[in-house]
Amino acid sequence: MKLKHLLFLLLAAATFSASAQSHKKKHTHSRHREATHASHSRRELAYDRPMPTGLPRPKLVIGLVVDQMRWDYLYRYFDRYEEGGFKRMLGEGFTCENTNIDYIPTVTAAGHTCIYTGSVPAIHGIAGNDFIVQATGKSMYCTDDSTVTGVGSTSKAGQMSPRNLLVTTVTDELRLATNFRSKVIGIALKDRGGILPAGHTANAAYWFDDASGNWISSTYYMNSLPAWVKNFNDQKIPEKYLKQDWNTLYPVATYLQSAPDNSAKYEGKFPGADAPTMPVKTSELYKGHLGMIRSTPFGNSMTLDIAKAAIQNEQLGKNTVTDFLAVSLSSTDYIGHQFGPNSVEIEDTYLRLDHDLATFFTYLDETLGKGNYSVFLTADHGAAHNPNFLKDHNIPAGTWDDAAAQKEMNAMLSDKYKVDNLVISMDNYQVNLNNIAIKKAGISADAIKLDCISYLQKQPAVQFAVDMQNANAVTIPVDLRSRIVNGYNAEHSGVIQVVLKPGYFSGHGATGTTHGTWAPYDTHIPLVFMGWGINHGSTTRQTHMTDIAATVASLLHIQAPDGCIGKTINDAIR
Ligand SMILES: [Zn+2]
Repeated sequence: MKLKHLLFLLLAAATFSASAQSHKKKHTHSRHREATHASHSRRELAYDRPMPTGLPRPKLVIGLVVDQMRWDYLYRYFDRYEEGGFKRMLGEGFTCENTNIDYIPTVTAAGHTCIYTGSVPAIHGIAGNDFIVQATGKSMYCTDDSTVTGVGSTSKAGQMSPRNLLVTTVTDELRLATNFRSKVIGIALKDRGGILPAGHTANAAYWFDDASGNWISSTYYMNSLPAWVKNFNDQKIPEKYLKQDWNTLYPVATYLQSAPDNSAKYEGKFPGADAPTMPVKTSELYKGHLGMIRSTPFGNSMTLDIAKAAIQNEQLGKNTVTDFLAVSLSSTDYIGHQFGPNSVEIEDTYLRLDHDLATFFTYLDETLGKGNYSVFLTADHGAAHNPNFLKDHNIPAGTWDDAAAQKEMNAMLSDKYKVDNLVISMDNYQVNLNNIAIKKAGISADAIKLDCISYLQKQPAVQFAVDMQNANAVTIPVDLRSRIVNGYNAEHSGVIQVVLKPGYFSGHGATGTTHGTWAPYDTHIPLVFMGWGINHGSTTRQTHMTDIAATVASLLHIQAPDGCIGKTINDAIR
């Protein structure tokens, strides 16, 4: 007892003296600061210079989301990348080699939202590209907003805003932190790829309207397009690109990382084309279908063209505070869906994107000065290999017809409960029940859930069927469970999560590919930072998609978004 007592006293004394010392140190430190500050102000008065803000920040942050970019694409085509694109990012910047998505479903809207909010569907509400509002049973597109109208378009494509997003983005937090003096602009072919990253308080978001071939916005942001956007549209850039035809950047025989370019078994054709082969005669196929540019590498080139126009005309990075440009490159996703990861088309798309990025970074160097801006590049999700291709190489894979499963479950439930259409959607690998009909008929939703789960567990492609509200009671690997819990939003998600076997995805199309599952090909994404405030290096420790917003917030000395559950990747920032 005595010894313990003594030890305690010794410890207390040591702590006291340490804290007194640190207090003293702090005191002298702040006095020293005051002194320099005073002499600074005197000098400033003498020379009549504005007070420096003193807080170091980059002039501009550029977020680049490459839609459907698997992590391995950084290395799959590494030998053929130029010096100034992906290789420059890896060579100068900081790469987080093991960044994972911690929820399902891994789709575009949820991905872009997670990157910019550091949050997950359970909290941020964007539970899918489309989701069922459980209270009404109605399907909702993530950025649909009937209270606004298009600007630059009269079509429904303009009726978009971030109003379904329940939390702030890191771009919102930058606006709040600088009392709205920072400019924030979102740009992507896909409305959701520009709108969700730019947040609630953005100055603008622009996206592509297939009908007119114009870049448009909505009355959420503005009442008319700025002159520079009108001018950009007047240049008819989609036509200029599409008239060139899409040929491979290099001789097709040199594309060693892809299956021979005649794989009709694995690849989808363009409407009007005879076969899924290069060159794609876009000059003939585009007439009346300007939206075709989405499914060519030209879509990414045009996106970076308008990103440059935004920087130039909005004077981004020339502000007294940090500006933020959120860019998403959507064409990689459309091309991936149509042709799959083992195609000449995807290989060529990444070689062309690499070239476009190199040109873009050179433009940023010239406009803002090398080292004055910060960039991060990541992806909203990855993609599976084509199942036929995998099966041809003896790797287990396949598709699962979720529409047929819905029909069979409804027939079974209708027999038992005498109510039709009890399963209203299988979107996002989730069973969405007809809550209104269930209530009206006075039947037990729990009983229906059990019936559905027992049906689903018998399907050969299904590995697990999990009651979302009870995921913690189910015997499944912990990584799966946490992804289900993080993805479950009570207002916007179905009640049963279907987890397919690895290599399987829903649909019955034999060509191309998709994404949405927990498997590493869907959830392992690239994450590379470069430029102002970024260390050079890499880590293979596990990092998370939710860490991106937290890290950017730390870099900028601003508050993390209000639904953020990620952690700062310390080693990435100086
Ligand atoms: Zn996709």
